[in-house]
Amino acid sequence: MNNFAYVRANSVEDAVSRASQDSNVMYIAGGTNLVDRMKGFLDEPSQLVDVSRLAMKKIERTQEGGLKIGALVTNTDLAGCAEVRSNYPMLSRSILAGASQQIRNMATVGGNLMQRTRCPYYYDTAFACNKRQPNTGCPAATGINRTHAILGASESCVAVNPSDMCVALAALDAEVKVRGVAGERQIPFVDFHRLPGNTPNRDTNLEPGELITAVILPPVSFAKSGVYLKLRDRASYAFALISVAAALELSGEQIKNARVALGGVAHKPWRATEAEEFLKGKRADKSTFSQAAEIALKDAKPLAHNQFKVKLSKRAISRALSVSARGGGVV
Ligand SMILES: Cc1cc2nc3c(=O)[nH]c(=O)nc-3n(C[C@H](O)[C@H](O)[C@H](O)COP(=O)(O)OP(=O)(O)OC[C@H]3O[C@@H](n4cnc5c(N)ncnc54)[C@H](O)[C@@H]3O)c2cc1C
Repeated sequence: MNNFAYVRANSVEDAVSRASQDSNVMYIAGGTNLVDRMKGFLDEPSQLVDVSRLAMKKIERTQEGGLKIGALVTNTDLAGCAEVRSNYPMLSRSILAGASQQIRNMATVGGNLMQRTRCPYYYDTAFACNKRQPNTGCPAATGINRTHAILGASESCVAVNPSDMCVALAALDAEVKVRGVAGERQIPFVDFHRLPGNTPNRDTNLEPGELITAVILPPVSFAKSGVYLKLRDRASYAFALISVAAALELSGEQIKNARVALGGVAHKPWRATEAEEFLKGKRADKSTFSQAAEIALKDAKPLAHNQFKVKLSKRAISRALSVSARGGGVV
């Protein structure tokens, strides 16, 4: 870890103004990802701006009937919020499927959106990595790439986004509220994270110095049927090999609306919009679900060690949709 200055922000404006002055200044919230990255020399900020005491810790109802979730709400508080558990169960379950209780107590919503990939080549500074240092190469593309991307990857980077919460937020059409020196703006969740292209060093579309202040959840009438299925090497305390957030709105046996998002398959939470469109108007049965799964994975380009993810993703989509069609619950 390098030497760095530490300052505690006393307002959102104060935080933004400090972070906008110098690209080596970083925000710290719960510290559960950033401190590890600093210890590994992946990030070497000159200054940390501690935002953890700012007034962004509330979960409030919006006028539209959705929720405004402050960026500093902990993963534990969000997963346990009665309204989230009852109206957006896939969000609560996605959070509880991640990390450990102790980490969830510290981890914040803003930090979860900004956590970086768990690609082992990114974490090991003995290897080159385009994400860590642009134009040095991607050893994962030809290396041990069992946990890597099957959708949307590039020659520059085959890493995946590790978040569980973000898969549910993508499926729920959340928006991210951010504040920068130029003012406030709201970014649709599907546009928040980026595909790697030839700039895999940029994970998100945040501008330098912008601070996430909240996540806005719109009301989704059928979100009660939402499920989250996470498949991993260990039953707990492991990142997803693949995951699925899914919800269905039915009229009798006919599908009126569908949401499907995948985790562990791409550089960003992957919304399967073509599969969602296909599902609309179809009968909610096994055959429909497996056709939707085929559509969701039709552009998959597996690497040498992760062909299994294609089949696993298809089966997981079918299963998640079947459970959602029965009204949701534990998958
Ligand atoms: C052992 C372990 C296992 C884990 N397992 C899982 C898992 O299975 N699933 C999962 O989803 N997650 C998992 N996590 C990740 C964990 O959820 C994240 O580390 C956590 O959510 C990050 O939140 P934080 O507040 O600690 O962020 P910090 O570590 O404080 O910050 C992380 C990044 O976010 C930036 N940042 C923080 N707040 C803001 C803000 N408001 N605006 C802009 N930038 C900001 C920081 O500058 C930094 O770059 C795991 C973590 C660990 C250590």
